[in-house]
Amino acid sequence: MKAYRKELWFQVPSRRAFIHITPEVEGCLRDSGIREGLCLVNAMHITASVFINDHEAGLHQDYEDWLEGLAPHEPVSRYRHNQTGEDNGDAHLKRQIMGREVVVAVTDGQLDLGTWERIFYGEFDGRRRKRVLVKIIGE
Ligand code: ZN
Repeated sequence: MKAYRKELWFQVPSRRAFIHITPEVEGCLRDSGIREGLCLVNAMHITASVFINDHEAGLHQDYEDWLEGLAPHEPVSRYRHNQTGEDNGDAHLKRQIMGREVVVAVTDGQLDLGTWERIFYGEFDGRRRKRVLVKIIGE
């Protein structure tokens, strides 16, 4: 069995963003040389997500509006977590609901995604360097 590991780095200039990362993950899969196996992609930070859904700007705005409705950034005083001196209480909650990781089957050297499935990095507390782990195992 082969194993491949790579960290993808992001520095989002805004507090929140959704970034399409399917091409980067496909690049990792090519570099790995693995033809059959599993590909794990996970955020390495507790205020960021990796998720799979449609590559469609309206949907991403819908996520933004929905998440702000559930856990508005302001007033930051509404979150007990922010009593530690942080201002990212909302970002932890947004990360929880959007998820930490995805696992994609690798078949015949390709990510075995559904027709409209694409992989995204969800940033909820940006403006600093953060990592996503790609781990691929198989043969
Ligand atoms: Zn925090």
